[in-house]
Amino acid sequence: MDRIIFHVDVNSAFLSWSAVKRLREDPQALDLRTVPSAVGGDVKTRHGIITAKSIPAKKYGVQTGEPVMKALQKCPDLILVPGDRKTYKEYSRQFIAILKKYAEVVEQVSIDEAYMDMTGAGAGAGSREEERQAVLEIAAGIRKEIRESLGFTVNVGISSNKLLAKMASDFQKPDLTHTLFPDEVAGKMWPLPIRELHGCGGATAARLNSLGILTIGDAAGTDPEILKGALGEKAGAHIWRAANGISNSPVRGTREKAKSYSNETTMAEDITGQNYGERMPAYLRRLSESVGSRMRKDSVRAYTIGVIVKTDQFHRHTRQKRLDRSTSDPAVIEAAARELMDRLLTGEEGLFSRGRTIRLVGVSAAGLDDSPYEQMSLFDWMGAQTGSGEDTPAEDPFPITGVKEAVRTAADQKADREVTERKADRHRMVQELASEEKMAYNPSSAAAESEDPDQDPGRKGGAPVSAADEKKRRLDAMMDRINRRYGQDTVRKGDSRKARP
Ligand SMILES: [Mg+2]
Repeated sequence: MDRIIFHVDVNSAFLSWSAVKRLREDPQALDLRTVPSAVGGDVKTRHGIITAKSIPAKKYGVQTGEPVMKALQKCPDLILVPGDRKTYKEYSRQFIAILKKYAEVVEQVSIDEAYMDMTGAGAGAGSREEERQAVLEIAAGIRKEIRESLGFTVNVGISSNKLLAKMASDFQKPDLTHTLFPDEVAGKMWPLPIRELHGCGGATAARLNSLGILTIGDAAGTDPEILKGALGEKAGAHIWRAANGISNSPVRGTREKAKSYSNETTMAEDITGQNYGERMPAYLRRLSESVGSRMRKDSVRAYTIGVIVKTDQFHRHTRQKRLDRSTSDPAVIEAAARELMDRLLTGEEGLFSRGRTIRLVGVSAAGLDDSPYEQMSLFDWMGAQTGSGEDTPAEDPFPITGVKEAVRTAADQKADREVTERKADRHRMVQELASEEKMAYNPSSAAAESEDPDQDPGRKGGAPVSAADEKKRRLDAMMDRINRRYGQDTVRKGDSRKARP
């Protein structure tokens, strides 16, 4: 069955959202969407760049990404409003929430656009034309719900792949649905200038124009080897595929946001008060780097940095601190982790002063900035909005390979941690049991000569408790603890090989 993909794009997102907010606060206010207006820059000093414009402003030639001064020269009456990131984030959230009512798999690709996998929609409606009609009705329903409940409009592009759906949503605006199925590519997409092909930046377009390739159709009909020769292997191949409407990338569902990031490691050899200064820094550096890079991958930062240690007695201790500014910088995480570790382990109050040694060390980051978009500068938004960030055709905007590392949710992390811990605990216990038992069955050991391993040594006819007895009792207690914690028979006495892994 052919896939059905929707690309839903908010019309003039920032401008619309600013307009909607003004109208909600004052229903009599001027609707910015109906007049030449723009979001961007410093409204008073008139510096900065335009990040969104109304459709009437567009008619004056005002462009996203151009300096405010230049826009004002084109349109002296242009109404400028400042950006309002908090409102934009909230409307974005509500927009995506509506899409999720219609599709199980929704992939948000920027603050104001998302793909929906609607495969199966319209199935059973009858002929292919009737099925397409049914799909259009679903799209109309989505647009209506967004318009009526949120007060702004979207375009919906529909096709059997993401590339064509995205191209379709960019056709005439606002508040419209367009289809661009493969059988419509020749009629609707090939006549367009090559610059309008998704993933074709200005430089690429200029190069192609110089070869006489003016439209998307021209590129589609060009031998891909010629395109590769002109643009390089990767970019040439991409342009040819895109021009022919080929794209296989799946809609990737929005992943559950992680609540915290952490990483920990069990030492091969315990860290002690003596080797702390020498060995701990390398562990903290490595852990901080892994935590920081995972956060960066997800575009989040954390306010709270924590450390975890586990002692030779299997007790976990943690310390954490809140930073003034959120971070994903490994150096900042590491510095905080070191400070916390010093506090936890060294000095008069430290665990080392109590004779503890450390067998596991971890670094965590929590108190995350709640939106993955928090990091992006207005400039990034602008890039996302205008496609100006796309002037790198070598980057396939719809890569088929390159599976992202899944976000590890807090629950995943906890589960992983528990498994790691259990493994490490068991390993250590098995080793200890083996060495204890070696001693117990050593014929030269007093305990081995006199005792049935299952018999309680305390009951032994009032005999004084030997060192071996004491050891055995400790061993039994330890086994009890493990079995209580991890289930009966996790460890058993006898040959260590019988201990269940
Ligand atoms: Mg948009």
